[in-house]
Amino acid sequence: MPTPPYTGRFAPTPSGPLHLGSVCTCLGAFLRARSQGGRFLLRIEDVDRGRCRPGFTDAIRRDLDALGFTFDGEPIVQSRRDGAYEAAIARLAKGGWAFHCACTRAQLTRRPCPCRGRGLSAGAVRLSLPPLAPAQDLLHGAIEPPAHPAPLLLKTRDGLYAYHLACVVDDLESGVTEVVRGADLLGQSPLQDGLRALLGGTPPAYLHLPLLLGAHGKLSKQNRAPAALSLGTPQEILLRCLALLGQDTSGLSGAMAPRDLLRAATSRLSLGAIPRHGVPCPTSQWTPPPGP
Ligand SMILES: [Zn+2]
Repeated sequence: MPTPPYTGRFAPTPSGPLHLGSVCTCLGAFLRARSQGGRFLLRIEDVDRGRCRPGFTDAIRRDLDALGFTFDGEPIVQSRRDGAYEAAIARLAKGGWAFHCACTRAQLTRRPCPCRGRGLSAGAVRLSLPPLAPAQDLLHGAIEPPAHPAPLLLKTRDGLYAYHLACVVDDLESGVTEVVRGADLLGQSPLQDGLRALLGGTPPAYLHLPLLLGAHGKLSKQNRAPAALSLGTPQEILLRCLALLGQDTSGLSGAMAPRDLLRAATSRLSLGAIPRHGVPCPTSQWTPPPGP
């Protein structure tokens, strides 16, 4: 069988601005895809309509453009893909893997979900996972699956499609061959591979990038990380993120256009230089990198 073309993606959740951690993830994914001569897709992960806002989607796309990132094809917008997720659930239910679950969150903390095989017709939808294999990460090696994984949530009782389902269905349909994302999702990879196998897919390669650790833990929207582009020019942000990813920035300067910086960084991408563990990044002590 011919090897499918390298396809990578950046998949932001538009529940806040593009912060430094998201820029690092996009940068790592972009450099990896372009260095492989591959396709690079943008996916808006807005299934949680309570938390996501169209205004954030627009702002994220503007910031990505200002930073010089380019994507292939139109963005995939998860809030428009209910049909695909519902079809996947129907397929998993037909195979006997997906089932309705009436358990409350409190019950699930006390005992395993007993709902599979009960033939319930309402409630959340969960997935009983097949035997899982380790996922393979380019930086971290084999990621062992949990010994006794709980059924995976596919759809909440309120009708929201869960992260794993939307992520795996979209990766499969888009032909994603390598998933580059933050290390907070490292342990989820074997579970996603299990779901992907049930939908007829083979596992992707993984590259989990180090998390940026701010003064209050992981840099994230939850702890109100500031918009990356409020901290410096696009060039300064790119140079800062290249350094956080352990990449050689010698000879690169803030006087270069963002796309030229990205082109130069693509040609010298070193996976071995990427730190494996969290990188301290107190944004309160933000200092732009030295000029040319
Ligand atoms: Zn249950």
